Amino acid sequence: MPVSHALEADVLWRQDPELADVLLGERERQSTTLQLIAAENFTSPAVLATLGSPLANKYAEGYPGNRYHGGCEIVDAAERLAVERAKALFGAEHANVQAHSGSSAVLAAYAALLRPGDTVLALGLPHGGHLTHGSPANFSGRWFDFVGYGLDPESGLVDHEQVRALARAHRPKAVVCGSISYPRHLDHAFFREVADEAGAYLIADAAHPMGLVAGGAAPSPVPYADIVCATTHKVLRGPRGGMILCGGDLAERVDRAVFPFTQGGAQMHTIAAKAVAFGEAATPAFAAYAHQVVANARALAAALSAEGLAVTTGGTDTHLITADPAPLGVDGRTARGRLAAAGLVLDCCALPHGVRGLRLGTAAVTTQGMGAREMAYVGGLLASVLRGGTDPVSAREDVRELCAAFPPYPR
Ligand SMILES: *Cc1c(COP(=O)(O)O)cnc(C)c1O
Repeated sequence: MPVSHALEADVLWRQDPELADVLLGERERQSTTLQLIAAENFTSPAVLATLGSPLANKYAEGYPGNRYHGGCEIVDAAERLAVERAKALFGAEHANVQAHSGSSAVLAAYAALLRPGDTVLALGLPHGGHLTHGSPANFSGRWFDFVGYGLDPESGLVDHEQVRALARAHRPKAVVCGSISYPRHLDHAFFREVADEAGAYLIADAAHPMGLVAGGAAPSPVPYADIVCATTHKVLRGPRGGMILCGGDLAERVDRAVFPFTQGGAQMHTIAAKAVAFGEAATPAFAAYAHQVVANARALAAALSAEGLAVTTGGTDTHLITADPAPLGVDGRTARGRLAAAGLVLDCCALPHGVRGLRLGTAAVTTQGMGAREMAYVGGLLASVLRGGTDPVSAREDVRELCAAFPPYPR
């Protein structure tokens, strides 16, 4: 990580040691604990360098060739590259790479297709829907009338019959498929059929699996959905940000929904970093990475299952695993705390049978170079900490040792 090494060691350290200390502390935390948060990853040094570049200084409201600010010729080239690479990577007719985040992308998708008060059918929040899928604490729940479908409490799979019945009963203006925790592939053809029958738009919120799609390790929603929303920072391993893909017919509506409707100036350093990440994601090395992410998740799910945790749906197709630690005698929240003390960093989430369990993912540890052997080890360690067989302090040392062998940013 030459660029940020230089910054931390020299400029920032001399000017603002207090803040430099924070950066170094976080780098230390990331490289000595296990990042099992399903939404996180380690961007490449090239992406970090781009984020820390002078493009961060540039104001660029509008779109390439049509900006409200002068001096955009150079950053226009960055955005054009990002757009062309996104279109090629995902086989989409149109890409908007300006959305500041996954949530901004979803907001723009709704703004492009809906009016306040419209009915939207989406996965309910207790079953893994995102905040932007109708939470009363979010704009989505305040401005639209959300109807939630669910997962079968036994199988943990999308209840297709319920989706179909709710679409027939409520005639939504849009159907949303996508989740923060669903470990299996969604049946996009099914959702397309349901949306068509209801006369609804289909919005795929592929924030989580988009990196797997890029690497050919998960089916693409692009041929099925009217609009695909995604983040660029999860499995896709780019900078923190959002992206929207759609057909040519919706291109102008989507672009206007992002700017000027919901955002102002584009963040050109982030957009350039998205271009870098799309370039990386188009390589055979990234395809191998995406497949390894899934192989690792399957290995970790199998290890957790063998240790007695109740793994939702019995396994995974993706980078994501959810599991109930109750069979080991702890609830999700207690488990998360104990594991954090051991340096195993992960989240809690709602499980289809109505309790809070654990959510973990393998995107970050796979970037570090870990494989199935390490996943089996991590699964065993995790269960041992939960059972009380290994105390968190000694597990913390085991984790530190493992991480030292797989540095996220080797020097
Ligand atoms: C992560 C996620 C988002 C939001 O992304 P942010 O960048 O945090 O705003 C939206 N939808 C789904 C399904 C997600 O998993």
